[in-house]
Amino acid sequence: MFETLSDRLSGVFTNLRGKGRLTPADVDRTCREIRVALLEADVALPVVRAFIARIKERANGVIVSAALNPAQQIIKIVNEELVAILGGETRRLTYAKNPPTVIMLAGLQGAGKTTLAGKLALWLKGQGHTPLLVASDLQRPNAVTQLQIVGEQAGVQVFAPEPGNGVGDPVAVARAGVAHAKVRLHDIVIVDTAGRLGVDADMMQQAVDIRDAVQPQEILFVLDAMVGQDAVTTAEAFRDGVGFNGVVLTKLDGDARGGAALSVRHVTGQPIMFASTGEKLADFDVFHPDRMASRILG
Ligand code: GDP
Repeated sequence: MFETLSDRLSGVFTNLRGKGRLTPADVDRTCREIRVALLEADVALPVVRAFIARIKERANGVIVSAALNPAQQIIKIVNEELVAILGGETRRLTYAKNPPTVIMLAGLQGAGKTTLAGKLALWLKGQGHTPLLVASDLQRPNAVTQLQIVGEQAGVQVFAPEPGNGVGDPVAVARAGVAHAKVRLHDIVIVDTAGRLGVDADMMQQAVDIRDAVQPQEILFVLDAMVGQDAVTTAEAFRDGVGFNGVVLTKLDGDARGGAALSVRHVTGQPIMFASTGEKLADFDVFHPDRMASRILG
């Protein structure tokens, strides 16, 4: 992830090294090179434009200040703007005043929702919470079994459909899951929902119905970082269809170019909260924009 972008950017900075003073021509060339690097990394065009405008404005300030060692200054500016585009501060989960806190996962099939449900549950358990996983993905064959497996691996309980729990009706399962959590004193409920291979009206309606039934504190949009430019249209569809207040990026261990990661915050206005970096339940962490920016800059 980000290797090509990192290489490209380090090439841009190398071109600036050894310069005593920065000229307008240097700024133009540098911005052009950064623009190409971002486009090659599949960053969405509006994001690239906004990013380059900020870099240009600030780099022009470096010319005016006649600062020595302009390469260092530009690296600092690019770093700060990368942190900003990735969301600035880390956003933490919001917990309900009256438990349980309901966290709903939404996203396309294969994005990594079910795996994430297990990861998030394990992580929350490590923080002293008592999460319950609720299997409201009744679309994909095996999704319920898969959730039961990750629940077992994480050592957390799974609420799954069975007679009386709303067999075949994901909304009823979600509602019954939250009721079950209240009785059994689970302080957090994680609701896994069904995706489709592409954005689909039925899927979106089902997500809306589940949302309205369980009124989550957090709706997390789960996004496969490998999908590139498509991420933007999918994210917009989920934002407009069901709405979400946080993003989880999955498959950051893959060799994606990084465009989804760099675009999603700017495009949706919602922060990236967690990152998934592998198939094992422990391959998961809070997303830190500053650390990610440092990784990109190498
Ligand atoms: P869902 O359809 O959204 O519930 O997606 P799944 O949780 O079933 O994940 C789809 C596939 O992606 C599975 O094979 C997972 O093992 C895999 N997967 C999920 N998260 C990650 C990740 O962060 N990295 C990698 N390499 N694979 C992942």
